[in-house]
Amino acid sequence: MTLQSFGVIGLAVMGENIALNVERNGFPIAVYNRSREKTDAFMAQRATGRNVKAAFTLEEFVALLERPRKILVMVQAGKPVDAVIAQLKPLLEEGDIIIDGGNSWFEDTERRTQELEPAGLRYLGMGVSGGEEGALNGPSLMPGGTTSSYEFLSPIFNKIAAQVDDGPCVTYIGPGGSGHYVKMVHNGIEYGDMQLIAEAYDLLKNVAGLDHNQLHEVFAEWNTTDELDSFLIEITKNIFPYIDPETKKPLVDLIVDAAGQKGTGRWTVQTALELGVAIPTITAAVNARIISSIKEERVAASKVLTGPSGKYDGQTKDFINKVRDALYCSKICSYAQGMALLSTASKTYNWNLDLGEMARIWKGGCIIRARFLNKIKKAFSENPALPNLLLAPEFKQTILDRQTAWREVIATAATLGIPVPAFSASLDYFDSYRRDRLPQNLTQAQRDYFGAHTYLRLDKPGSFHTEWVPIA
Ligand code: NAP
Repeated sequence: MTLQSFGVIGLAVMGENIALNVERNGFPIAVYNRSREKTDAFMAQRATGRNVKAAFTLEEFVALLERPRKILVMVQAGKPVDAVIAQLKPLLEEGDIIIDGGNSWFEDTERRTQELEPAGLRYLGMGVSGGEEGALNGPSLMPGGTTSSYEFLSPIFNKIAAQVDDGPCVTYIGPGGSGHYVKMVHNGIEYGDMQLIAEAYDLLKNVAGLDHNQLHEVFAEWNTTDELDSFLIEITKNIFPYIDPETKKPLVDLIVDAAGQKGTGRWTVQTALELGVAIPTITAAVNARIISSIKEERVAASKVLTGPSGKYDGQTKDFINKVRDALYCSKICSYAQGMALLSTASKTYNWNLDLGEMARIWKGGCIIRARFLNKIKKAFSENPALPNLLLAPEFKQTILDRQTAWREVIATAATLGIPVPAFSASLDYFDSYRRDRLPQNLTQAQRDYFGAHTYLRLDKPGSFHTEWVPIA
């Protein structure tokens, strides 16, 4: 019997599409799914005429694969991954490689690596971005683990990943859980991008008064620019003119304004807090989804909590351009935060991440793909030790040139009672980062006053405590 060169466990949306991608690129595959129905459906509907063998037990599956076995696990993150590994482990032999392609928590990946590698098995934790379409036609891949495992698999990864002008959207991320960490931060950045776009939409619709056709035109124009050309702006442009066949109304207006989330945004915020890195734009994006989800409470509150309303009284075209500038400046701040988080995580966990490469592999296949990532790649190539993206010459100049518009948009939103939490968080990040003196001298005085936490002084070295006494 000819053995298959690659195995996929889990035939939900991601697994079945990535399996077909691997096979299309010349690697015969074996597939297995816990419930038989998915395997049957996959074989009948999508695998005919292709070099795919199905297994209905893990024993059969393992026997279909050439050694060392290369097995991609694409099941629900968390306990299911442990369950699959526990069943698979006794069936595997030294040198076989398990790749977890789901959105696993990076510490779970570290733990699983430590459990499997001493037993002679190899383990890669690989972030896969791009959803269904990316998985089928070329995702962005973020593999972490040992370099030897990565090098062994790189011929496959290089072929199945999205291809951009400077190569396939995959690179060796680093050891242990680094691949899943980078994927998690990618998702956090995605939350930030989506919230910033939502705020721009709110302003254009409810302050500038644009209808769905005009919104389509504005986003179509933005999508031609160096700054904003991206997958998310493109799909947004396509969403506005979509008419619901039943009601003949724009579908977007009929969708309940309560956003779901699966957890990677929240994880990004949690780990940033633990590492002491400020990511206020991404945090604002997660919070915005949380507040959106209490729809009933908001509807009740809207009847009693009044505030200002009204429309922009200047030139509409002018306002649209200012919103574009505010969106771009905010986006730069959001990426600056995501990259700062990756930089600190890299130092904390000794991952030696190449931040320019992270930007490069996000240029294709994934949800945050955008022309603008070229600029981030260039910034880190020119200065790999760049402390913050805001200091890169091009980004610095962009923000200096556009900050007046950015501030005006946020002021207008506040005056008219339109929440722009991610725009505001970005501007506050910029203003905090650029200030040489912040008011935390007072915070330190308060901490020393009530808790004897001590403080440092500007005028002399040492640590000080004062017996603060009220002055009558
Ligand atoms: P999913 O809905 O997250 O998971 C469903 C798959 O997990 C099914 O094949 C299911 O098998 C299997 N499964 C669940 N519990 C199991 C267990 N205890 N033992 C064995 N198998 C079990 O699938 P998905 O959307 O394709 O995502 C797969 C992974 O990729 C997830 O980690 C997800 O977060 C990540 N991801 C998803 C996307 C996306 O756009 N969907 C994008 C990037 C990354 P049964 O059929 O038997 O229930």
